Amino acid sequence: MKITSVKGFHDVLPDESIRWTWMEQQARQLFARYNFSEIRIPVVERTELFARSIGETTDIVEKEMYTFDDRDGSSLTLRPEGTASIVRAYVEHALHTREPVSKLFYLGPMFRRERPQKGRLREFSQIGVEVIGRDDAAIDAEVLLLLHDLLQALEIRGPQIELNSLGDTTCRPAYRAALLAFGEAHRAGLCENCTRRLERNPLRLLDCKDPDCRATTASAPVMLDHLCAPCRAHFDAVQAALAREGIRPRLNPRMVRGLDYYVRTAFEVVAEGLGAQNAVGGGGRYDGLVKALGGPDTPGIGFALGVERLVLAMADHAAVQPLAPEVFLAPLGAAAEAEAMHLAHRWRRDGVRVEMPAGGKSLKSQMRLADKAGARYVLILGEDELAAQALTVRDMAAKRDFTRAVDVSSAGRALLDALTQLSHQPVEQRA
Ligand code: AMP
Repeated sequence: MKITSVKGFHDVLPDESIRWTWMEQQARQLFARYNFSEIRIPVVERTELFARSIGETTDIVEKEMYTFDDRDGSSLTLRPEGTASIVRAYVEHALHTREPVSKLFYLGPMFRRERPQKGRLREFSQIGVEVIGRDDAAIDAEVLLLLHDLLQALEIRGPQIELNSLGDTTCRPAYRAALLAFGEAHRAGLCENCTRRLERNPLRLLDCKDPDCRATTASAPVMLDHLCAPCRAHFDAVQAALAREGIRPRLNPRMVRGLDYYVRTAFEVVAEGLGAQNAVGGGGRYDGLVKALGGPDTPGIGFALGVERLVLAMADHAAVQPLAPEVFLAPLGAAAEAEAMHLAHRWRRDGVRVEMPAGGKSLKSQMRLADKAGARYVLILGEDELAAQALTVRDMAAKRDFTRAVDVSSAGRALLDALTQLSHQPVEQRA
């Protein structure tokens, strides 16, 4: 019986993985310009880390985590997101004693047991950043600028950043009470999920997807009308700094994000070409989280983008180039094959991208393979070439042969130079 992959877990085949690699390279370059350093965190954490940080009443913790008992009885979970682990690492390694501000980025798989559909998987990858140690509006704006630049560098179609403020511990309790009162007064019109978690997490009323529930809460109070003066000033300053850079996020007062730890600045990015799951990323400020996980009272802000959705939202013409072989070595006959193995090994060690097919193939079938591989030059090594210790070159782009044009003893760089020179020869001088 054929064994298939697990539902929601997928393979990324080479024609798609080149987009992943390109995307990661673009992201790494940009992160370096913003002076962020990479952190690599484990895939497995203690379950309580996520319960304590993401929040007990969130969808993720309530029903989406891959949790299992280790053989010693401890409860472990495959990480559903990166922020909790990074804050755990920040506290565990006392990073605040090494640097006043930590600017970190990460890449890697996350796991959530959601219902799979286009753009929604059970194992998916995220690219994310965190800044721990600053709570001024300027850093929020800088993180949003980084996000904006990243979407541009990745050639994402129709990206739109949506912005909201979730208030803080001063103003949110009163807002929460107002929203709860609204929910209770309109309980009959709420969906089952929202009714159930109304008392524990009324904010989730605002991002419920159920159409009837949404209609009921259309007139619900929003946080932006309840911000305290410092939160309002912070929010205004973030927007003013972005406006100076020509960036005006769309305000979305109903966006609350699915995780409990956010305060003040919260944002999401949507893009075109994704269908129902059109969010490519999101993030926000989490000032209480480091302390809640046993660290100093240090503020933080970050975002995460979903790589699978980014790939779907990338422009078709994005500058992704597969690295084709530079030369395709086509030996004819057993003696030539043995020599070809030796040549390929040497040139590869010299840094040349070399492809060589299985032995016993005719010249015609090797040409076909070379064409498919996208190699610019085919180096033919038959009996005559072997005797002369010089290879015949076919320039696939110019469709011309150059008989015994390069020496088998050429080092990689000299080989590539010789090939380039051949292809620049005027036609009448070609051998
Ligand atoms: P979140 O922190 O839940 O908003 O996730 C940030 C981003 O990760 C989302 O905007 C998606 O792009 C991506 N993401 C989250 N969950 C999934 C999933 N189940 N499958 C694919 N991508 C996801």
